[in-house]
Order: sequence, then C-alpha cells, then structure tokens
Amino acid sequence: MALKKTDRCYYCGAPATSEEHAPPQSMFAGFPCNKIKVPSCKLHNIKKDDDAVINGLLIALKQPDLSVRPLHPDHQKALSLREKYFRLTRHQTTPTSLQIKRRNRTTETITIPYVQRKVNIPQWMILLTAALVYDASRQFDADLDWLDARSWGPTFFPSRTVGGLNIPDMARAALKNMPHEQHLNLLTWHRGWTASPIPYPATLYYFDANLSPTRPNIIFRHTFYDAIPWYVEFMGTPLARRELEAKLGLG
Ligand SMILES: [Zn+2]
Repeated sequence: MALKKTDRCYYCGAPATSEEHAPPQSMFAGFPCNKIKVPSCKLHNIKKDDDAVINGLLIALKQPDLSVRPLHPDHQKALSLREKYFRLTRHQTTPTSLQIKRRNRTTETITIPYVQRKVNIPQWMILLTAALVYDASRQFDADLDWLDARSWGPTFFPSRTVGGLNIPDMARAALKNMPHEQHLNLLTWHRGWTASPIPYPATLYYFDANLSPTRPNIIFRHTFYDAIPWYVEFMGTPLARRELEAKLGLG
C-alpha cells in the first residue's frame, strides 16, 4: 500500500511522511509474513527504540524460570537470529534474577528484565496500540487521547535511579503485580486481527482486546513470544469502538 498525499499520522494526525509497521518489521526477521502498515509522521515512526524493546522482550524469554520448559522452535530461531545484537543493547536491557519467598513458604525464581528509562517501552506499547486502532478504521481519530492511555507490563520495571537496581522494591512490586494480572485475565478478551494474507506467526506476536459494554475504556493485551503480556488501556471514542467491534467481528 503506497502512501497517499492526504494520509495523516496514525498517532498525531500530522501529514504522513512514511509508513510505520505494527509491530515493527524487525520482530519478524527471518519469518515470512505480511505486515500491518500505517501512515506515520517522522516523530511517531519509532524505529530507534525497536531494537532495544525487541531485544528486551527476547532477553526476558531466555530466562531460567521460563526455560524450564524447552523453548518453542520459533522462539529459538528468533533468539538465535537476534542474539548477536544483544551486546549492543545490553546497556539498555538487563535481566535480573530474584529469589522470592511466597506466603506458603515456597521459593520461586522470577526474572525481571530491567529496561533503562531512555527506552520508553510503555510509550512504545501505546504507539503500537494506536497503530492497530488506526488500522481498524484506516482513518485518524482526533478524539482519541493517547496521552491519557495507561501502559503496563507486569514483568518489566522502569529504573527509579540511574545506574542502580533496587532489588527488594522490584521483588515486592512483582509479587503485587500477580493478582492484578490474574484479575485482568478474567476479563472477556477478543482475539485481534493479524497481517494478511500471510499472518504474523502467533508464536511471536498476537493481541486481544477487551471492550466492555459497561465501561468506556478499551484494553489491548499484546502477547509477545507466547509468554510476555503488555496491557494498554485507553478511553474509547464512538468511532474507535464502532470500528474495533466491526474489525473484531463483535456485535
Ligand atoms: Zn505523528
């Protein structure tokens, strides 16, 4: 799909100068599939953070607690294709293993990928969500307020201090996150769409959406590598709600 002169940025509505892939192409390197593309201005085509975010997700995948089961061949392939780049982004993403004692006295090892503040992974996830919402209607919705969107990954922790990890705080936060995530999982989720005609490998990426008939907000749940969820919640507009319902085959 070629860019038209009248195309506007999926996020801010400025005249579009390029196309943004949702999710970025580098996530699917080595896997033949089509891509979802949306018009973008220069500012909201966020290629500079793609490597750090994708490597951060992959590093999270390669953790002792997740790798008690063998990795899926697709995950192994994605890791082996990108591992050579890890060195470049290591200073931006650091996995940290923690032993935590649960109330029932069992000990569990959790690994927290720690993302440096200059890599704005929550904002990266909001932009991905905005691109998919644009794709549902193929038009810019000026009433959507992305500045107010909430973005949350249960297993990622932003830095509080420069250069230092506060491990006990992170362990406490990780434990607190568990019931919150369980609560979110109880909502009704509708499987999102994918690229066509060749879809994204669901082993690498898929998303679900929650559109409650009684609440105005809409939640996207992105799932990376079958294991790592990220939630983005935003206030729906009549246009976004209508188009998403149509695209998801609801109503
Ligand atoms: Zn823009």
